[in-house]
Amino acid sequence: MANKPAPTHLDPLKQSGLKNTRQRKAILDILASGNQPFAAEDVYLSLKQNQVDINLSTVYRSLETMREKNVVRKVSVAGDNRMLYELNLHTHQHYLVCVQCKKICPVGHCPLESFEKSVAQETNYTIMGHRLDIYGLCPDCQQTRQPDR
Ligand SMILES: [Zn+2]
Ligand SMILES: [Zn+2]
Repeated sequence: MANKPAPTHLDPLKQSGLKNTRQRKAILDILASGNQPFAAEDVYLSLKQNQVDINLSTVYRSLETMREKNVVRKVSVAGDNRMLYELNLHTHQHYLVCVQCKKICPVGHCPLESFEKSVAQETNYTIMGHRLDIYGLCPDCQQTRQPDR
């Protein structure tokens, strides 16, 4: 997945006022390469694979700097206690998580918009958001799992 060039129709670094360093650009390319959030360690390993000379604490620091500028955002998902990072595309996203191999897939749509509206009506709250993770066993893990569990 690392050999597919990321779409660069807009430059989030430029928009955020951050300097477009080679390392930041490389990190963003990794985040854009998979349709899923990455742990800092995974970003680091992918950079190593791509021969980018960087160390883990620099990866952490760059991710945090870009998070402060809303270029990336942190997410956590059920069953994975690591902090994950993803490009902040300013879209609303839910994830499907495999509890065994920790694979994470985005779910195409949000089923809760009308639910939010009815909660708002019932409670007079101004609803600001919600979280929903769906978890289970992916098709690969269903095959490897012991039948008696
Ligand atoms: Zn799985
Ligand atoms: Zn939603």
